[in-house]
Amino acid sequence: MSDISKVLVLGTGVLGAQIAFQTAYKGFSVTAYDINEAALAAAKTTFTGLVDTYRAAFPDAEAEAADKALARIGYSCDLAAAVADADIVIEAIPEILQLKRDTFAKLNQAAPERTIFATNSSSLLPSAIADATGRPDRFLAMHFANMVWQFNTAEIMGTPQTSPEVFETVVEFAKEIGMVPIPIKKEVAGYLLNSLLIPFLNAALSLVAGGYAEPNVVDEVWRTDTGSPMGPFQIYDIIGLSTPYNMMAHGDEHDQKLAAWLKENYIDKGRTGAAAGAGFYDYNQ
Ligand code: NAD
Repeated sequence: MSDISKVLVLGTGVLGAQIAFQTAYKGFSVTAYDINEAALAAAKTTFTGLVDTYRAAFPDAEAEAADKALARIGYSCDLAAAVADADIVIEAIPEILQLKRDTFAKLNQAAPERTIFATNSSSLLPSAIADATGRPDRFLAMHFANMVWQFNTAEIMGTPQTSPEVFETVVEFAKEIGMVPIPIKKEVAGYLLNSLLIPFLNAALSLVAGGYAEPNVVDEVWRTDTGSPMGPFQIYDIIGLSTPYNMMAHGDEHDQKLAAWLKENYIDKGRTGAAAGAGFYDYNQ
C-alpha cells in the first residue's frame, strides 16, 4: 500500500486529463487543476469523452465504473486550495521549464509537508526542477504514455536527492492506479522507452529517405526477424508524424534533413498518421 489517497493533477490537457481519469477510475479521489474556469470547462468535456473511451476499452467492467470515476473528480483553479490536502501532485502542464519551476515553487508554499511532487515531463530531467520544489527529497518524475488506459506504463525516475522511500511509494502508487511501474535507477533523457524508440524510428526513416527500401519492406524485415507485431512505420503512424517531425526539425543536420523529407513526402500531403486516415499506410479503406 502506498498510503496515497488524495491526488492532485495539474493541467487537464492531453495527458493530465488521462492521468486524472485513470486515477479516479482506480478509486482515488482526484482534483483536476487548471489555470481558469474556461480550461476546467474544457476538461469536463474531455472527461465526459473519456467515460465513453473507458466503457469501450473495458467492456467487462462494472457498468457504472466510468461514471463513478467521473464522480470522483473535483475541479479547481485555486492552486493553494487544491493542494491543501493532497498526498501526491502529478504535474502535466506545458513543457516549459520555467513554468514548471514556478508552479512547483508556488505549490511548495501551500502543500503539506507530506505531499509528494511528481512531474510528467517528457523531455526535462527532474534535476532541472528539483531545487525549485523546495522538497527535492519528495520530488521525482512519473512519466505516463499517451492513452494511459492502454499503454499503461509509468516510468519512475528520481534525482540523486529523491528519497528511496518516496520512490518506492510512487512505484506502489503506480501499481494501484493500474500502471506497470518502470523504475529507472538514474536520470536519463527520454527515460527508457524513448531512449530506445527514438533512435530506432530515426534509423528506419534514414533507410527509407535514403532510398534503400520502402516503408512496408522495412516493417516486414523487422516483424519477421524479431517477432515484433509492428514495424517502425506502423509505429510512426500510430504516434502521428507531427511529433517526430517537430523533434527532428530541432535536431542536428541529419535530423533536419529527415524532417524536411518527412514534411515534403507525407505531412504536406496530409498524411500525418493513422488518426488522419493516412500516413505511411492508408487507413479507413
Ligand atoms: P497540453 O498542452 O495538452 O495540456 C497542458 C495543460 O496545462 C492545459 O490544460 C493548460 O491549460 C494547462 N496549463 C497551462 N499552464 C498551466 C499552469 N501554469 N498551471 C496548470 N495548468 C496549466 O499538454 P500535454 O500534451 O498534456 O503535456 C503536458 C505534459 O505532459 C508535458 O510536460 C509533456 O511533456 C508531458 N507528456 C505529454 C505526452 C503526450 O503524448 N502529449 C506524453 C507524456 C508526457
